[in-house]
Amino acid sequence: MDASSSSRLTRWWLAALACLGLGLLGALWPLATRAYVFEGPRWPNNSTVVLHLVLGSPGKTLLDGSTSWDDVAVAALNVWNPYLGSGVQLSGPIGSAASPTGVFDGAVSFSDSVSGQDFGDDALAVTEIYTVGNLMDETDVMVSSSVTFDSYRGPLQKKKIDLRRVLIHEFGHVLGLDHVDAGTVSIMTPSISDLDTIQADDIAGVQALYPNPPAPTPTPTPTSPPALTSSLAVSGYVNTVLRYQISASSPPWTCTVSGLPPGLSFQPNGNYVSGAPTAIGAYSASVVLTNAAGTSTTTLQFGITDPVPDYFANEQYIGSGVYYLTFPYSAPFGYYSYLADNHYMYHFDLGWEYVFDSRDSDEGIYLYDFASSTFFYTSVELKFPYLYDFSLDAVLYYYPDAANPGRYTSNPRYFYNFSTGQIITK
Ligand SMILES: [Zn+2]
Repeated sequence: MDASSSSRLTRWWLAALACLGLGLLGALWPLATRAYVFEGPRWPNNSTVVLHLVLGSPGKTLLDGSTSWDDVAVAALNVWNPYLGSGVQLSGPIGSAASPTGVFDGAVSFSDSVSGQDFGDDALAVTEIYTVGNLMDETDVMVSSSVTFDSYRGPLQKKKIDLRRVLIHEFGHVLGLDHVDAGTVSIMTPSISDLDTIQADDIAGVQALYPNPPAPTPTPTPTSPPALTSSLAVSGYVNTVLRYQISASSPPWTCTVSGLPPGLSFQPNGNYVSGAPTAIGAYSASVVLTNAAGTSTTTLQFGITDPVPDYFANEQYIGSGVYYLTFPYSAPFGYYSYLADNHYMYHFDLGWEYVFDSRDSDEGIYLYDFASSTFFYTSVELKFPYLYDFSLDAVLYYYPDAANPGRYTSNPRYFYNFSTGQIITK
């Protein structure tokens, strides 16, 4: 038990204490039906409150057939448990009060005194509550060993006190319920009565202390049809695994995809397209998304090509068979498309080029330029628009089109020849 714990005692009496104030209260509140009262502290959520039952045997069969005081206590615990939320439950292992972890859980026992003091003439049982802050830490129930107990239902019998209702009352204290006003229909009245179990007021009390967890927030119903948010253009290489994840707004939605390139298939479990395309080409697939608000159909464009040189590693497929490439040094290579044999490139500014990999460490390519019947070389190191021209044995600088950002001159194409210091056209 924590050193900062505090404790309090709560006793249940055989008869109400003579108390002038009680009459006065009755006069002020003639209805006398004040609802459940809290002691203050409660158990933390998701607590199993362990009360070791060490009451032992009565040595005879009790009126309700029980042969063990601890069985009576288990029945009393189970009166409360169905009404407790917040993950809190009472547990009553029968036997030793020392738990294997060394933590001393609460106990339910007979005793002739409480902390060295007599119970008092008419006290039946005492619940001792230890708290840390506003939370219960340990509770012990001590039943007076000088009272004659039995176990039965119905009206209270003289000289045989029903232990079961005593324990139901004490377990109410264990849970955090305090005494209600005398006259309230409740097991938590200050004095024992003909009520033998918990009442509606007691149930309302523990349910206020330990509410059931709130129902999970329902998924909002979409108010608009889903819209595809993933890229509308997908590029891939033939015989090379490709994966495209479909994402869309306004969930939850379901998805179907048709018209995929051969070799690719749609995986409805994860809403993605995967596979290794088996044929070069440009394909238009149809993505149909459906949610509670409606359906949307979106065209997805696939460009499947041969693997290209590393030079083109950052190329972007922008749809309709068109690619765009820009370099880490931020100069653009420009717009282009491929024939089915993607060695044949149509560059929007240079025109037709036959492209092949130089396989050098500079990520270079050779371009056979159909317009000039010349081989060019360029690379990530040489930095397009610089080109080495094999016919001229010269480095050329290909002039950008000042009127079209991202484009180069065409019809005619202007180059600066570093060998001659002249501007030429090709
Ligand atoms: Zn009490």
